[in-house]
Amino acid sequence: MARRKPAKGKAASNGYRQARQQAAKAHKKVARQRTDTARKWAKKVVRDHDALAVEDFRPKFLAKSTMARKAADAAISTTKHELINMARKHGRDLRLVHPAHTTMDCGQCGARTKHALPLPERTYTCTACGTVSPRDKNSARVMLVRAGLNPAGADRGRPLVPLGQEAA
Ligand SMILES: [Zn+2]
Repeated sequence: MARRKPAKGKAASNGYRQARQQAAKAHKKVARQRTDTARKWAKKVVRDHDALAVEDFRPKFLAKSTMARKAADAAISTTKHELINMARKHGRDLRLVHPAHTTMDCGQCGARTKHALPLPERTYTCTACGTVSPRDKNSARVMLVRAGLNPAGADRGRPLVPLGQEAA
């Protein structure tokens, strides 16, 4: 497209139109591949778990930072969308969690660190209760607690039983 770009004020050539169609086709293919991968992943997650907690992030708000651009490239929006659809389709308990400070709170005692953890730091150490756990695992625990789910059974990937339904 760049090579065949029409001069300013001139009509696009046939070659340019063709190139534009090819580019559109390629983009469409990538989009479909990403949706397919997202759908397969969502299906697996939904199959293995009865209750799910997802960060209710706003992709647009995110799109400003470097990390957001990488997330957009991994089709994080599509993936979330597919997960929500799949959970609804299979009657799973999916809860959206407010995304603020999920990396700063402690999953054990709920204390919040004063400063955001730098991204290369992969271990979360709580200053209040002294818990040390892998960064992502801590965030996952925070999200489960916020969703009102019990994080105890989550580590081994066992389905969580909602409170009050233990006997069922
Ligand atoms: Zn703590």
